[in-house]
Amino acid sequence: MVQRVLAAVRSRYGITVFFLYLAAFGVAFVGTFTLPLLAIGMVLAAIFMLVPAVLLGDLVGAMSRAANRPYIRRGTCPTCRADQGAAWEGPVYRCAFCASAFEEDGDPHDGPDMAVREAAPATAGPNGGR
Ligand SMILES: [Zn+2]
Repeated sequence: MVQRVLAAVRSRYGITVFFLYLAAFGVAFVGTFTLPLLAIGMVLAAIFMLVPAVLLGDLVGAMSRAANRPYIRRGTCPTCRADQGAAWEGPVYRCAFCASAFEEDGDPHDGPDMAVREAAPATAGPNGGR
């Protein structure tokens, strides 16, 4: 339960902060004409809130990694909770059922799906391999 909540918060954290900043820009833009002191205060708040926002994102990421690691050690996919069997091994743990991938430290793996994609034969190029 905690792991699912943390994974959901983590996957949406960046875009949520972006839209909060975008909404604050709208308020500050209107405030430029109606109440200039509000706009100046919001610019200063935006600058000083950036570091706490990044630190909070790092904290959510660390908590999410810590919540994922017991599932990965147990051989269970943190996303769909399916038992993986012998194919569950690092360095990238990829679920055979939902195709979500995790690194050893519990981080979701965002790289290309190397397990599914096979190398194209040399003769498949536009010049026939020459
Ligand atoms: Zn899965």
